Amino acid sequence: MMDRIYFDHAGTTPVTEHVLNGMIPYFREIYGNASSIHATGRTARKAVENARRQVQHALGAENASEIYFTSGGSESDNWAIKGAAFAQKSRGKHIITTQIEHHAVLHTCQWLSGQGFEITCLPVDSEGRVTPEQVRKAMRDDTILVSVMTANNEIGTLEPIREIAEEVHARGALFHTDAVQAVGAIPVDVQAEGVDMLSLSAHKFGGPKGVGALYIRKGTVLDRLMHGGDQERRMRAGTENLPAIVGLGIAVTDAVEQLQEHTQHVRNLRDRLEKGILERIPDVLVNGPACPDGRLPGNLNISILGLQGESVLLRLDLAGIAASSGSACTAGSLDPSHVLIAIGRDADTAHASLRMTLGWENTEAEVDEVLRVLPDIVQDLRRIQGYSRR
Ligand SMILES: *Cc1c(COP(=O)(O)O)cnc(C)c1O
Repeated sequence: MMDRIYFDHAGTTPVTEHVLNGMIPYFREIYGNASSIHATGRTARKAVENARRQVQHALGAENASEIYFTSGGSESDNWAIKGAAFAQKSRGKHIITTQIEHHAVLHTCQWLSGQGFEITCLPVDSEGRVTPEQVRKAMRDDTILVSVMTANNEIGTLEPIREIAEEVHARGALFHTDAVQAVGAIPVDVQAEGVDMLSLSAHKFGGPKGVGALYIRKGTVLDRLMHGGDQERRMRAGTENLPAIVGLGIAVTDAVEQLQEHTQHVRNLRDRLEKGILERIPDVLVNGPACPDGRLPGNLNISILGLQGESVLLRLDLAGIAASSGSACTAGSLDPSHVLIAIGRDADTAHASLRMTLGWENTEAEVDEVLRVLPDIVQDLRRIQGYSRR
């Protein structure tokens, strides 16, 4: 039998060999505190600033000083939204976001609504898209911040970020985007897209867990989230996570360099998987944009009517295949995915969802193995459930 098949890259990705090798010296040989004055510290500082430039180049940022290292996507989202909200609150207390954001954005906004801020949560269409017109109509004189994700983690929808940013700036508000799923999967350029803040996380593109970055355009005023030392130009206290930051720098550089090649490979595999499933299994709906080009290249989210996504997931797991039902963050919860509900799926169809997200190290043989195993699992489970075809 083959090794386990990993089709859950939206959950996390393995650290690449190149990234790991690049990180290793920074645990024991180059272990300085980047804030120390001595040579050991200065060497560490150099590595941190090198990684900052690597992230700058990967995002097309104007200056390395616009990149701040964090503990990951959740912290970056929290910081961008809370930091902007509190820094701008004398101008207004209205914030706009969408119904399909990651919980790191949605729960942050919910918390802010208990702190006197007013949140507008825009609905999306049946493919998960929010339009620039919707944003324009929702903008008010007291709108201080708009947060719309670049790509959705469950159904892969790509949002019209550039056009939305234009609408937001026309009304003088700040624009943040959660690009955690986008970086390393599609081209991202903070200047071309005109975003003021952008969140990314290393473990979604071959880097280590627990490290990410927030891009903050020069001149954007944010309150800090972490108080303490003077790290990150006094904006984010805490001794820099040196090996992780080095790993992030290498991972983001590699991901951008290999973007075209990886995208092509991953898209081919995803298309093969999607086509194969729809040919072999009746009564399957694809969740997300119907046109695969409107989705992240590695994303496939389906509802297998009549079944629970979790039961399919467990049978796939027994067969050595890792997938997900909805997002990893809500796995284990009984609530249907808020994203699938937002695109208009009923609770049963949402519960029937299975997400498979492919990565660069996946192979055609792995896709074919899933196509061999999945139809039998579905047929068996549907027989047990007494499912009759629609
Ligand atoms: C994974 C993810 C996050 C959270 O990132 P962490 O680094 O795991 O905290 C936020 N937003 C999106 C869209 C994600 O996919």
